[in-house]
Amino acid sequence: MLILIWLFIIGLFIGSFLNVLADRLPRGETILGRSKCESCKHVLAWNDLIPVISYLSLHGKCRYCKKIFSSEYMWAEIGTGVMFSLTWYLSELNHFQLSQSVISLGLISALIVMFLADMRYKIIPDSMQVAFGLLAVLMHSLSFIRGDIETSIYVQRFGKMLLDGIIVMGPLLLIFLITRGKGMGFGDVKYSFVLGLLLGMWNGFIALYMSFVLGGIIGVYLLFVKKMDRKKSIPFGPYLFIGTYIMYFFETDILLFIQRIYGF
Ligand SMILES: [Zn+2]
Repeated sequence: MLILIWLFIIGLFIGSFLNVLADRLPRGETILGRSKCESCKHVLAWNDLIPVISYLSLHGKCRYCKKIFSSEYMWAEIGTGVMFSLTWYLSELNHFQLSQSVISLGLISALIVMFLADMRYKIIPDSMQVAFGLLAVLMHSLSFIRGDIETSIYVQRFGKMLLDGIIVMGPLLLIFLITRGKGMGFGDVKYSFVLGLLLGMWNGFIALYMSFVLGGIIGVYLLFVKKMDRKKSIPFGPYLFIGTYIMYFFETDILLFIQRIYGF
């Protein structure tokens, strides 16, 4: 229990960094360099950067120019804290080894940056996709690194993993080509490749399917409560990330559920 509280606090600080990545990567800015107020460009002091607390103590305003910050940044920090605890908890529930649990924290960090960047700028940063893909490869290479499997078997599995990625990319690539990029961004297409690397072909397809169902349900809901203009497109990425996360941790439950519904 104590570790979950610690991970929540660590998650708040990492969330503050992921917030910066999600703003700077889509704009092509360097990720080094001190944080500045977007409005008055004043370099922020260390006590302006304490997650949540600095936002609350300054009543959501810049210390220097009094410009009001969006509370979205604070919620992203809290969200990261929650996701860090949840990811660790689910890793233990899935009997992950320590290395697998740590990689899972890396995966969720990349997902959070991609989620925020896609919501804010409708861009899924390439660097985060690469990071996610490398972590997925690392996850599947652990048994080889430990020396539990032979090189020839590993090479075979590696080839299958790449093939899975390419196959899972198929449906979104097709939608992208048919709609000429209107129904699907190319960032989503690229992401479906790394999704396939992590989850494999069948689980990857199920994650895609869940993303479409979730996107459909939320899309219809938003239309009905008139929060969304029919012409305004909402990014598909966040649904993909949620589908990935659910399939990553609840593979067995989802497969049982599908078996019960379709009866095979
Ligand atoms: Zn300012």
